[in-house]
Amino acid sequence: METLRYGGRGNQVLLLQLALKRAGFYHETPDGVFGTKTLNMLKRFQRASGLSPDGIAGNRTWAAAEPYIYGYVGAKLRQGDTFYRLAKRYGTDADAIAAANPSLDPADLRLGANAVVPLGFPVTATDVPWSSLLAKITAEGLMKRYPFISTELMGYSVLGRELFALKMGKGKREVFINAAHHANEWITAPLVFDFLETCAEAYASGGEVEGRSAASLFSETKLFITPMVDPDGVDLVNGAAPREGYERARAIAEDYPDIPFPSGWKANIEGTDLNLNYPAEWDTARDNKYRMGYVKPAPRDFVGGYPLSAPESAAVYGFTKRHDFALTVSYHTQGGEIYWQFAGIEPEGGEALARKMAEVSGYKAAEAPYESGFAGYKDWFILEYRRPGFTVEAGRGSNPLPLSQYGSIRRENFPIMAAALAGE
Ligand SMILES: [Zn+2]
Repeated sequence: METLRYGGRGNQVLLLQLALKRAGFYHETPDGVFGTKTLNMLKRFQRASGLSPDGIAGNRTWAAAEPYIYGYVGAKLRQGDTFYRLAKRYGTDADAIAAANPSLDPADLRLGANAVVPLGFPVTATDVPWSSLLAKITAEGLMKRYPFISTELMGYSVLGRELFALKMGKGKREVFINAAHHANEWITAPLVFDFLETCAEAYASGGEVEGRSAASLFSETKLFITPMVDPDGVDLVNGAAPREGYERARAIAEDYPDIPFPSGWKANIEGTDLNLNYPAEWDTARDNKYRMGYVKPAPRDFVGGYPLSAPESAAVYGFTKRHDFALTVSYHTQGGEIYWQFAGIEPEGGEALARKMAEVSGYKAAEAPYESGFAGYKDWFILEYRRPGFTVEAGRGSNPLPLSQYGSIRRENFPIMAAALAGE
């Protein structure tokens, strides 16, 4: 992390504010601006952490703050420690500690052993704009807190960010949920992380997911999530892009003055719309979009030079090929609709499940509009496998949807994802 001081701004300031808020020192909405309030709260946090209160976030301050971003702290066991005592010391609960440390025997805790102590809040932040860095941190935090979650590397974005999937469950039936193919639809990233975390918590504690036993769901099914297919684009929209990426995108956007920059950006950082880059009647998508004027890299709607020309869509394609997904859900915003067909192909079971998803969410099972009905991930999945693949357009309004909608989006979409998991 960078050294931060008064007057700074940006994504890392936002993460610092998130940490201070979770630690109980900051009561504002994190805004990424290091002003007087952040300065004062940081000094209080430093004092409480036994650091000199200089109001500068350097290495030692970050070391104290990071557990509040990652959602756990590493602890060395002291004389007489039990999970219960550890939990009291860190304001968390003993069951969460047990779940995070399957290799420690609570009846035989050794002095000096290392324990992972989950802190008393969910890892997934739903009150700050997201970045690729926050996605990476959240993935790591979830894997520490729930060691039965593991990761699979899918590839790298144009700017070298890791494209990854997280997985949990022991079942043979594989379900794949992906999000943020489109940059300014980034609110779908915390949505799928939040769902995974909710599943993991239920699984660890013998609980339920949307009224279904987590133990039985995950004995039948293995869930894979890819929270951010377009990390570079998300960083661009939320002010977290490196300068080179920002400049490259801005040069592309200059030719499209009607599209707000960067908030209207949907594409990858090179101006390819990732959900128009799959080999599913790509030529038709190209002809449609060319007719609309998107004949070269653009903030949205440019199909790319050829199918899978973008490393991000190529990575998702390769990942899908290496697996045997029974069903996929791709998260987009907005409109409250669920698409389940492709070019007249109606995969078996697709319609029934789309209707179920509509019923539990209040969304509408619909046909995708013709002009965006080709070369998407869902299109390719249905064409290639003839199995149910869905695009869900979550929320309502105009992109990027504000975080104030997060609660309703969560309520509408958790039952959709639970239905996808169960396959009914
Ligand atoms: Zn979209």
